[in-house]
Amino acid sequence: MPRPKRRTAKSKKSAPKWEGIRLFAMDVDGVLTDGTVQISSDGSEAKAFSILDGHGLRQLARDGVVTAWISGRASGATTRRAQELQIPHVIQGRIDKITALRDLAEELGLSAAACAYMGDDDIDAPAMAWAEVGIAPPDAMPTALAAADYVTRRPAGRGAVREICELIRAARVSRQP
Ligand SMILES: [Mg+2]
Repeated sequence: MPRPKRRTAKSKKSAPKWEGIRLFAMDVDGVLTDGTVQISSDGSEAKAFSILDGHGLRQLARDGVVTAWISGRASGATTRRAQELQIPHVIQGRIDKITALRDLAEELGLSAAACAYMGDDDIDAPAMAWAEVGIAPPDAMPTALAAADYVTRRPAGRGAVREICELIRAARVSRQP
């Protein structure tokens, strides 16, 4: 795994630079859900996604911000929800989140300064540190919280992603002349 870039241009003490964000990428389990997965005896699984988050992601896409889901675990429930919300970039089965994020940013012609990444676990921390704005939900693991520039007030799976969508959208509106 490549070493995360050291924080140089950004400091946790400065306010997150939402206004420059063009790509909002996020982990799925523990960010868009509360981190639990229901497994039935027949092997099928179910996850609960927030309607609040879904609406925020659709609004953000309409405002021209690219959204991406990067999950370490492949799941049919995730695929279905992503299709419903028309998430343009869905990467599943990738443990190496920072490489997935950097590759996607490069493909889109974006630098780290234009990226926000939200995650809740150890494997998310390097991607959070690389992105201009790293975000964690309040019940994230300590490594993720330590890498975060912003910790949401709302819990994962219950509006945490919507909170970020609103912050990015508000910063974009305030940029308009
Ligand atoms: Mg997670």
